[in-house]
Amino acid sequence: NGFERLGLAAELVRAVADLGYTEPTVVQQQTISRALSSEATGAIDLMVSSQTGSGKTAAFLLPVLHTLLAVKAQQREQEEADWARQVAEAAARGEEAPKRPKRKDPTQPRHFKPATPAALVVCPTRELAQQVAHDAIELVKHCKGIRVANVVGGMPYQLQVAKLQGADLVVATPGRLLDLERSKQIKLDAVRVLVVDEADRMLDLGFADDLAEINRLTSAREQTMMFSATFAPRIQQLAMRVMHDNGAHVQ
Ligand code: AMP
Repeated sequence: NGFERLGLAAELVRAVADLGYTEPTVVQQQTISRALSSEATGAIDLMVSSQTGSGKTAAFLLPVLHTLLAVKAQQREQEEADWARQVAEAAARGEEAPKRPKRKDPTQPRHFKPATPAALVVCPTRELAQQVAHDAIELVKHCKGIRVANVVGGMPYQLQVAKLQGADLVVATPGRLLDLERSKQIKLDAVRVLVVDEADRMLDLGFADDLAEINRLTSAREQTMMFSATFAPRIQQLAMRVMHDNGAHVQ
């Protein structure tokens, strides 16, 4: 399987195999290998010129999910280390080992906590965001503990808030995302990877100011990927603003 050769996690290779994909498309090959090279060299920003139908959705979702798996593994290791330290400290004091705290079910919070996703994909339209979220749910099916939430206008607000709980990846349209941020249902400062899908349509639909706000709110992120059918000067300008490094132009 060509996806395995790109260095993707086994859970993701299984999911693409389930979908019947055998070989990565050109844009997938170029984007995934570059996005993943970040493990050794630090994350790199990508500016990708790609059309609908090229396989661009999986080209950004697969490396994003690969990163989320790594983030989860890190969190688990940290929890294990904290626990081992507590047990050792108790033993040193001659006390009995403390009871291990139960892992919380993020869908059933006792106390309300805003969602703090590690990955954010912004799309220009509700239909596109729903399609991308749908694809993400397919790709994440073998990844334990990773939650995907879709944030779009038109969905009842309370339902949206409930679905956001514990989300690791949020796929959103800008308007509803910023509403939820202002009402403190979601915090964006834990975002490590930001993807801007169909950047040219984003600008056509008047989302330049919203993108600037999302750029500011996620300024601690490590990686930005921007996809666009065209790279007209106004898109280049947007890229200059949102890319933290030079941004390899992929295709
Ligand atoms: P997109 O360009 O992301 O809208 O994808 C276009 C279509 O190609 C979608 O229906 C995907 O399910 C499909 N697709 C994406 N990647 C592959 C692949 N490597 N092999 C076969 N089909 C794919």
